[in-house]
Amino acid sequence: MEKPVISVENLCKTYENEGIKTQAVCGVSFSVKKGEFISIMGPSGSGKSTLMQILGFLDRPTSGKYLFEGEDAEKFSEEKLSYIRNQKIGFVFQTFNLLPRTTVFENVELPLLYDRGETSGKKVQEKVKNALQAVSMEHRVNYFSSQLSGGEKQRVAIARALINEPDVIFADEPTGNLDSKSGIEVLKILQKLNRQGHTIILVTHEIFTAQHAERIIYVKDGRIVADDLVKDRKVAEDGELLK
Ligand code: ADP
Repeated sequence: MEKPVISVENLCKTYENEGIKTQAVCGVSFSVKKGEFISIMGPSGSGKSTLMQILGFLDRPTSGKYLFEGEDAEKFSEEKLSYIRNQKIGFVFQTFNLLPRTTVFENVELPLLYDRGETSGKKVQEKVKNALQAVSMEHRVNYFSSQLSGGEKQRVAIARALINEPDVIFADEPTGNLDSKSGIEVLKILQKLNRQGHTIILVTHEIFTAQHAERIIYVKDGRIVADDLVKDRKVAEDGELLK
């Protein structure tokens, strides 16, 4: 049987500020199979972002085990962590995190620059084009990010996350700053990417958004309170991306 892409056991994270301890994540155990689309859902303050930051190697747990593709993450060198962050995983955030006064092209190619210092050669252009095509944004390649609507910004952010063809895409409240129509476009794209084989981990506080995944892990006060397959999965129709 194939190893899970992500497996955590008894994961905990305690923050300490001026002597005050906050247990943000506590005793969390679950696995994610390659090609799964899961939502992590819970109210504000339940530990979702902390959990995602640990899973995405932006933070380390206080205790517990994290296996990524079967390997113990605690033993990863800084070099290996950089490689994983750049090549194996992609991030999409609620606030898009695009660089202002910078074109769509430049935003999307950014992870390639961090990687090998590649500049705008033919290969880079091809990669950017493919990533923008995947989110139906190739017609805006020379726009500045400030000239885009919220939904378009998020689609560009997804293209940037896709540029190195990561195995896993983490999306933290990706529809949180969008109107409902643009939000659904983003969920459609995530479902399409999932069908193409990407593992998707979506963090949200909204059940409607969560139900676009095939499985929901419910968290409350830093703990998992349920882990269920979605019975009435919301499936966004295909082929209707806005231009
Ligand atoms: P969610 O994403 O579900 O809103 P978070 O993971 O952001 O939850 O937060 C979980 C808990 O951890 C909250 O009580 C929050 O106040 C606390 N917390 C988050 N980040 C920090 C931090 N850097 N320092 C101290 N406490 C934090």
